[in-house]
Amino acid sequence: MPAEPLLAARGIESGYGKVQVLWGADLLVGARQCVVLLGPNGAGKTTFLKVLLGLLPAWRGEAHFAGENITLWPSDRRVRRGMAYMSEIGVFTALSIADNLAIGGQFSPPATLRRQIDALYAAFPDLAARRSAAAGSLSGGQRKMLGIAKALAGSPRLLVMDEPSAGLSPLFVGEVIAILRQFHRDGLALLIAEQNVKFLDLAEHVITLEGGRTGFSGSVAALTADDALHRAYFGL
Ligand code: ATP
Repeated sequence: MPAEPLLAARGIESGYGKVQVLWGADLLVGARQCVVLLGPNGAGKTTFLKVLLGLLPAWRGEAHFAGENITLWPSDRRVRRGMAYMSEIGVFTALSIADNLAIGGQFSPPATLRRQIDALYAAFPDLAARRSAAAGSLSGGQRKMLGIAKALAGSPRLLVMDEPSAGLSPLFVGEVIAILRQFHRDGLALLIAEQNVKFLDLAEHVITLEGGRTGFSGSVAALTADDALHRAYFGL
């Protein structure tokens, strides 16, 4: 268990209308920690992330962020407090790269936003070279990079990502992992929902979600040492 939990969720139940998807999901992300949430298609990963970000209400259970009970907070209040969310889509395709970054950092004071955008252009030189180009003109891999940059524009403490590998070639998956590692080293906490086990390279802790419930919670080494989990997630 991390010494200083940044995000903690306990007994989360939620769903859509009368359809219950989450049946008691728990999670802990420490300050500056990277946690990967693994689970098969339909396990409820996206639903869980949406509850954590306040995009879907929790029917039961509680969530805390940086010591405050955020269970009933609207999404924008969570973002102002330091959470960022990158959905599978991630960017506004009709808007320019610069406008996407400005939207990502809309809650930051102007001077902080300018400094952060300069730092992001330094980290993403391909985006800096084309800042007035429409996001829709970028390749899939570049769009993913813009999605990350947009999510980071608000200088979050925690970046929550839904399947960053979706639609990417293995080469780009490697590039996405490399850039995330760079920001993680500088102190960014990460919560990444994935099916692609490559992302375990970044993880300090792994949680599995099966049928809307938390299953395994432990280190990558403990996950790989468990025969049944190894077969389920590594397909061997
Ligand atoms: P995937 O990797 O396929 O996105 P996931 O683990 O993220 O899977 P969710 O997207 O959270 O899973 O979906 C969990 C369940 O909730 C699925 O059975 C799905 O059909 C259902 N579901 C998702 N969105 C809705 C919705 N808007 N209305 C009703 N049911 C939904």
